[in-house]
Formats: sequence, structure tokens, C-alpha cells
Amino acid sequence: MGKVMTVLGQINSDELKFTDMHDHILIELLPYTQVYKNSFPAIDKKYLTISDENMYYLRKGYFYLSPECMRLDDAELATKELNLFKEAGGKTILECSPTGIRGDIRQIKQISINTGLNIVASAGMYADRFWPQKCQEMRVNELVKHMKSEIDVGIDGTDIKAGQVKIACNSLNDNEKRALQAGAITAFETGLPLQIHTGGWTDVFIDTNDTLKMLDIAFNEGVKPERIITCHMDSFIKEYDIVKIIKDHDNAAKLNLDPIKRILDKGVTIVFDFFGESCNYEAADMLNPTDYDRIYALLRLFDEGYSKQIVLGSDLYIKIYYRHYGGNGYTRVLDYVVPMIRKCGAKESDIENVTVKNPAFLLSC
Ligand SMILES: [Zn+2]
Repeated sequence: MGKVMTVLGQINSDELKFTDMHDHILIELLPYTQVYKNSFPAIDKKYLTISDENMYYLRKGYFYLSPECMRLDDAELATKELNLFKEAGGKTILECSPTGIRGDIRQIKQISINTGLNIVASAGMYADRFWPQKCQEMRVNELVKHMKSEIDVGIDGTDIKAGQVKIACNSLNDNEKRALQAGAITAFETGLPLQIHTGGWTDVFIDTNDTLKMLDIAFNEGVKPERIITCHMDSFIKEYDIVKIIKDHDNAAKLNLDPIKRILDKGVTIVFDFFGESCNYEAADMLNPTDYDRIYALLRLFDEGYSKQIVLGSDLYIKIYYRHYGGNGYTRVLDYVVPMIRKCGAKESDIENVTVKNPAFLLSC
């Protein structure tokens, strides 16, 4: 049996049980309020604060421009939301906020103590526009040193250690290539899994070909496919452009699993982590897949024998996704997705793979 590093120290992998493989507990994503500025029609700042009246705007995508939405900084509220996850049957959260966006790791540790949940923290780097000044000039070996210290010594001056390496690429520019190379070296040398953030849209859209390039960088450093996780893969199953979907509905509105199968066929694990998204991007003329689309895709992939390469999550990164604000919180996979795929005939062994077995295998070293 493998050992898994949590924020409270090492545990046996069979203690993980139901595991959310991509989520955030305390996070700071303010640069996105600038990144997405040109994606939306201009709006008065007064509509960007969280209030009942403003939900009309925020839930149509304007949350991206709202500093209040784009940070999770209330440990008390986070604890309440995570207690709901625990009540629903959850046991472990993989906290995917590395250097650049991570909140206070001491508070995250305290949340683990208060809720009794296992929390696994991430070493690594978020996309380069989020990097602290001191990291901007770092070479590959210096980035490796930084990540290794988050694993061997502790995060942000504490003795709280990371249990995975997470690298986010929003553009795969030179900085992000360097970070990915360093993340791969760190994962290879420590034996921890490497989770790569790809897909989705910011000011650019990262597609399957970009993702395959990222995988090549990791493979070149010796990381085996079975130690690699690519997240946000449910953003690849459907066209996002509303105008295209409406104008060419017969083709553009269809789900297409080929892009993610090209990634799965490399032998890596993918995360479907947008379950429970309770906002859309209508104000930017973008349409995200629904949970029904995701569930359909998941069941097709089970049918094709991929359940050993899939894990799940709910990527809660904005405040209004909390149940406190009427969102789906951290409980969507437990409350809805698992019961629904069961109702639709998914095998128990496939459900066990994506919620318990694969996470235990991936996080062990
Ligand atoms: Zn995330």
C-alpha cells in the first residue's frame, strides 16, 4: 500500500476513500479580472460585488471581472462548505492551488483539522502571469529547487508538505514551458503525480494539440504517463462558441470525445472537474457544457474501457459556487453525478475506479 502526503502528514492510501481530485480551498485569482476584461462587454464596477441583485450579471460570466468572486479567503465559510462535502460522503480533497494562487496554507491545515477531511496540497507553479516577482527570473533548476522544497521541507515557510506537483499552462509561453519542465523533473525525482492544468479558455484557447505538446515536455523528462493527470478535460467535449453552435447546430452542438481520447490514448489520467459549474459565460458569447453533457461523456468513456484513467472533481474557484450563495459547492459529484451515472447503468467497479481507486493509486508514492 502506498503512502500519501496530506497537510497533516503522511497517511496510507486506503484512508483516502472518496477523493475529489481537483478543487480549491483558499485561492487568489485576481489577475484573471484583467485577463478576461476584453472577453466581456464593459460593465459598471457596481455590478461586480456579490449581492442578490448582481447575481444576474455574475452568473452570466461577469464573475471573472469581480475581485470579490475571484478569491476564496474566508476560512470559516470554507469550513462550512467542506463539512457539507463530508456529510455527503467525501473524505479527501486534492487542493490544486500551487505557488501564484495559493491561499494561506496554515489556514488550510487548520481546516483539515476542523473538518476531519484529508487535504493534499500542491507544489508547483500556476500560469506565469500569476507568478510572484521572485519566480519570474528563475531558471529550470531554480524552479525545481523551489518545488522540491515545497515537497521536502514545507510550503511558504511552514513544515506543511505538498502531495502532488501542479503546473498550470495558460499559453505555453517560455516561462510556462520552463515551469512545466521543472514540474516534470520534480515529479520524476520525487515520485509524486504531476497534474497539468490545460484546456478551457482565457484570452487564448488551449486545445488538444497544445495539451499533447505539454505531455511531450513531461515525457521528455522521464515522467511515466500513469503519473500524469491533465485537468479541465471536460472543456474539450463541446464547442464553446455560442454563435457557431446556433448557426451550425447539427454539427457544432454535438459532443465530440475524440479530442480527449487522443489524450487518454497517451496513457495519462484525465480529470472531469467542472461538475456543478453554476455559472455560464453567456455574456462573453461562450457556452459551457452542462453536467448532462459531462455525464454522457463519462458513461461513453466507461463503455470504451477508460475508467482506470479518469478521476473527478468540482473545481470550486469562485465564491459564488459555494452553496452559501446558491451554487453547488463541493458536493455535486457526490449528490448528483454518482447517483445519476448509477441510475444510467454505470458499473460499480467503474464508479469505484474514478472516485476511490485511481486517486489512491495516483497520490501514492
Ligand atoms: Zn482549478
